[in-house]
Amino acid sequence: MATTGKIGVTTENIFPVIKKFLYSDHEIFLRELVANAVDATQKMKALAASGDFSDELGELAVRVELDEAAKTLKIVDNGIGMTAEEVDRYINQIAFSSAGEFLEKYKDQLNSIIGHFGLGFYSAFMVADKVTIETLSWKEGAKAVKWSCDGSPEYDMEECEKQDRGTVITLYISDDEKEFAEKGRISGLLNKYCKFMPVPVFFGEEQINKVEPLWTRMPSDLKEEDYKEFYRALYPMADEPLFHIHLNVDYPFNLTGILYFPKIKNNVEISRNKIQLYCNQMFVTDSVENIVPEFLTLLHGVIDSPDIPLNVSRSYLQSDSNVKKISTYITKKVADRLDEIFRNERQQLEEKWDNLKLFIEFGMLSDEKFCDRAMKFALLKNTDGKYFSIEDYKKAIEGEQTDKDNKVVFLYTTDVDSQYSFIEAAKNKGYDVLLMDCHLDSHFVQLLENKVENARFARVDSDSIGNLIPKEDKAKPELSEAEQDDLSAMFKAVLPKENQYYVEAENLGAAAAPILITQSEFMRRYREMSAMGGGMNFYGEMPAMYNIIVNMENPLVGKILAAKAAEVVSGDEHNSSLEAFASGNEILKQITDLALLANGMLKGKELSDFIARSAKVVEEAYL
Ligand code: ADP
Repeated sequence: MATTGKIGVTTENIFPVIKKFLYSDHEIFLRELVANAVDATQKMKALAASGDFSDELGELAVRVELDEAAKTLKIVDNGIGMTAEEVDRYINQIAFSSAGEFLEKYKDQLNSIIGHFGLGFYSAFMVADKVTIETLSWKEGAKAVKWSCDGSPEYDMEECEKQDRGTVITLYISDDEKEFAEKGRISGLLNKYCKFMPVPVFFGEEQINKVEPLWTRMPSDLKEEDYKEFYRALYPMADEPLFHIHLNVDYPFNLTGILYFPKIKNNVEISRNKIQLYCNQMFVTDSVENIVPEFLTLLHGVIDSPDIPLNVSRSYLQSDSNVKKISTYITKKVADRLDEIFRNERQQLEEKWDNLKLFIEFGMLSDEKFCDRAMKFALLKNTDGKYFSIEDYKKAIEGEQTDKDNKVVFLYTTDVDSQYSFIEAAKNKGYDVLLMDCHLDSHFVQLLENKVENARFARVDSDSIGNLIPKEDKAKPELSEAEQDDLSAMFKAVLPKENQYYVEAENLGAAAAPILITQSEFMRRYREMSAMGGGMNFYGEMPAMYNIIVNMENPLVGKILAAKAAEVVSGDEHNSSLEAFASGNEILKQITDLALLANGMLKGKELSDFIARSAKVVEEAYL
């Protein structure tokens, strides 16, 4: 008995809407159809397991068959099938009323409607002019039915000749969507969406999936090598991961998965969007940015959860209560795992730290809860390549590096080569210097300063060593205002013109260098942050500001000042006479250039003049 009827949604609306609003996502039809076939197959398995079905099960599998010439695509399963009455119920009468109105209202979220209201099957009409279903139910005495529909609201239903249990969906691919009649395209899609589906899926002779992917197995059955192999299968081009986490929870939500900490060298951006989200082993998406906190998008791997709503708008996702719980859970698990590595695999952690550091610092800077946990397991590395926990480090330096205000001063360098002389000076004084050369470190230093009690951070070249960690108030040289002005003018006359300088007299002892060039910690940090786009542009545009510390106790400085007293006139001619003196004084020029050289600031003509002058000095001394 053949019937013809109208599909029970106001389908005048539905097909055009499906076609129009799902434009960018046409390819998901295949995922939906294979998922239906897999479901029907798993239901069959369950019936057999419960004893409700005791006949021959056959080899349960889903087959995708493409006829490129005829432009037909078939999805074939030997699952439970449908009776005529079921086709009518599940396919013809879609499970909501006044669909037209509904669709109008939720046009923008049509994706979510497709996922939630059982329109999965209808997504076939995005790519096909005509679709047929031939199906035979597992139920005893069931008759095979054939349903067909050409995309208009009318369908035909009739009995047919199908002998084997299960369902065959045939798509007559439309001319606009020819790509879906190409072998390469279909095989690509199956590989993307169905690689881990729980029932064997064949395309031609080849099985395209692994029915028991690693994350569905018990961690106790798996070895380190299994995790590595799975990682290689997911990301064939990537370096070996550093560590992994196996997630497995079934209450209050269901979530399984494996996350990997990848090697992150320098660029946070290129490492994003590698986590793949699955729903019951069916691939959903690889952009999880609204499901996990931003810093976790740097991780790689797989999360599988039927409790994350599919295909809903991004903004909706963030407010979903399950998604919030899942996100909190994953963050906690990541912190737990790192804590465990810190306690039990400390050596490994130290070896891999340089590649893990960016991830952890990013996490600490962007997620308060994670930060509080990470204060325990984050490591600091010093210039000798030794690693410390933050707490241990503070204890280790406390003795030597506490200043007169009782603050522990963490000294750090951002560049061992260019700040070499300052690092040496600090070490000679018995101080330790941390290496902070990663591009989040300027922010990280600020964060640590807030989090570590009673501590202060100072870059090793930000002041003279005696001032970095001032021990007791030290008498400053007493200079009149005029003497101070002269000192400034003299040095400014011989320093590079593009920067600004603040010249200061200090008593650093006869053996210490005649002058030091430093950059204030405060100014430098703001310049660095604004250069990174921290919004503090005012500081970024200012010329660099350096402190010139003149050691009044150094004999060379004494000699320059004595010469100045003898040569420079007072009165109206004072300024020009001072300038002429400064530009002509070789010792002044030489000690200034040496200080510039120590900071990597001596360049070009100045550098070559310096070398020529030095060669002359050496000749005079030795020949
Ligand atoms: P959903 O899968 O979200 O329920 P669909 O529109 O994809 O929505 O399918 C509607 C219903 O049709 C399914 O719930 C199932 O009962 C039935 N169905 C679809 N495809 C098959 C199939 N291959 N075998 C058996 N039943 C199927």
